[in-house]
Amino acid sequence: MTRPPLIDVRGVNKTFTVSKRGLFRQPAASTKAVNDVSLTIGKGEILGCVGGSGSGKSTLGRIILRLVEPDSGEVRYGDTDLRALSNEEMRQYRRRLQIVFQDPLQSLNPRRTVAENIARPLLNFGISAAVASRRVDELLDLVGLDPRQSYRYPHEYSGGQCQRIAIARALALEPDFLFLDEPVSALDVSIQAQILNLLADLRKKLDLTFLFVSHDLKIVKQFCDRTMVMYRGCVLETGTSEEVYSDPLHPFTRDFLGTVLHLRKDNRWEQAAERAEDLEGTAAGLAGSGCIYAGNCAERFDPCTRSAPSLTAVAGERRVACFRHGAT
Ligand code: ADP
Ligand code: MG
Repeated sequence: MTRPPLIDVRGVNKTFTVSKRGLFRQPAASTKAVNDVSLTIGKGEILGCVGGSGSGKSTLGRIILRLVEPDSGEVRYGDTDLRALSNEEMRQYRRRLQIVFQDPLQSLNPRRTVAENIARPLLNFGISAAVASRRVDELLDLVGLDPRQSYRYPHEYSGGQCQRIAIARALALEPDFLFLDEPVSALDVSIQAQILNLLADLRKKLDLTFLFVSHDLKIVKQFCDRTMVMYRGCVLETGTSEEVYSDPLHPFTRDFLGTVLHLRKDNRWEQAAERAEDLEGTAAGLAGSGCIYAGNCAERFDPCTRSAPSLTAVAGERRVACFRHGAT
């Protein structure tokens, strides 16, 4: 990669432990949401992260923004080790790293006007109301909405327009990096394209860097420079989006691509992921200390059940965690 890295994540892990409530005391269940994940995102680059529901995509993004504290690993932003910052230092840094959710109402307050919603982060950082108000107008203009309507409330806008408002809010403090967590998954296909175009324009205009999460490999291929495929907290393969889409190496990616192409519904990947999760019960015994996908894999052979393959370079930046492709 020729671009200098803006985000550099090394070996992060996160396990959630949930104690089950109930009449009978049950053992706490733990989920390894992110399992030894490393990645870099070059300045100005769009990295796509694709995987089924529950594969750890949101947790990974939240770790980068320090909204979730990892159990171990490093998160660097340029030369700065984000995990070493004090709360006040992190508060200042947070301006530069922002998030856009699938559901804009997660970031917008329905009881505040659009102008108040967008101004909130500015006011929180001590910017005067007059300056904030001018900035709100600029931001609305930037995302293609009419600033004269900013006295309206979010519910008066369509889903796509609300996502534009959420993007304006995320841009208020002039960040360098946006974590886009399934920003178009809830929108109609025609609206999806408009929002993706807007994001692509904004990236160029404002020199932004994105981590873009989706369960749709086709969207990731269209929108992202490089793609990483996640399954149960692990990265199974990475490469340019074109490589991963047209020549998937990991059996998981191929299985899912096959399923996606044969099903017509919008939530195809999710359904396929759920089916794979159903198989997990039988898979768990098989996998043991082996490959996380061994239990479902049609190409499984002896090494797969003995140890876990690490993400290994096959050519340049193309990496895969599969013994069938020379992983170690
Ligand atoms: P994705 O975004 O790919 O759907 P997530 O990162 O949201 O996946 O979740 C990964 C796993 O971690 C899931 O099994 C989820 O249930 C679990 N998880 C995520 N957040 C929490 C949390 N705050 N507490 C407990 N478990 C969580
Ligand atoms: Mg998620």
